Amino acid sequence: MLVGLLSDPHANLPALEAVLADVGRVRPDVLVCLGDFVGYGAQPNEVVDALRDRCAVSLAGNHDLAALGAADLSTFNRFAAASAVWTREQLDPSAVSFLTGLPSRGSIGELELAHASLRDPVGEYVIDSFVAAANFEVHPFLQAAVGHTHVAALFVHVGESVMRAALTAGEPFGAKELEKLGGPVRVLLNPGGIGQPRDGDPRAAWGLWDAERRAFSVRRVEYAIEAAQEAIRAAGLPGLLADRLAEGW
Ligand code: ZN
Repeated sequence: MLVGLLSDPHANLPALEAVLADVGRVRPDVLVCLGDFVGYGAQPNEVVDALRDRCAVSLAGNHDLAALGAADLSTFNRFAAASAVWTREQLDPSAVSFLTGLPSRGSIGELELAHASLRDPVGEYVIDSFVAAANFEVHPFLQAAVGHTHVAALFVHVGESVMRAALTAGEPFGAKELEKLGGPVRVLLNPGGIGQPRDGDPRAAWGLWDAERRAFSVRRVEYAIEAAQEAIRAAGLPGLLADRLAEGW
């Protein structure tokens, strides 16, 4: 089974449309969405509509909860908080009902899924191998996928150590490489973010998990960044949320 991993579209419709076109070329067997459908971007209803029937599993992210009034905005910076308040006013009843019904944890086949992390499904950023190690400790998963950081990553647990594998867009890190590490290997994947990448590369990111080969790859897709920026500015959202898209942070 080839699983398409989509995360953090963040109401950025131009980025999502470009990713869905790429999904159409690659044709994974199933799609999952790891959450943060909304927040930051200017087209929350459109993004929910584009994904709700496509994803076999959809999870709620912290920005989805914030837009529903179900998260503490004091943990958000002022730009994120402003966009959460704006999004709450924009969401149509069907988007509210879809987002309200989402869990924050799930699975597909043997792949465990969470928006943020296994030990804190909507709050923790798995940004380095120390945080990843803590997650390998609290849950016996063999393979898991999370989003939330908007940075693609592959953490590998082998023996007593956890390390971060180098990923090159479009090139799979797969079974052979994992075998080379020796011993039983557990992996924690992050496909990166669609709607607001934060690794210095402004292209939208999504991931592929090949369950049989145990191979992970990340794809990067160019999209009409100016269109997303224009929508953010026209909505009266903070200009910084538009500016950052061009820089990929
Ligand atoms: Zn996010």
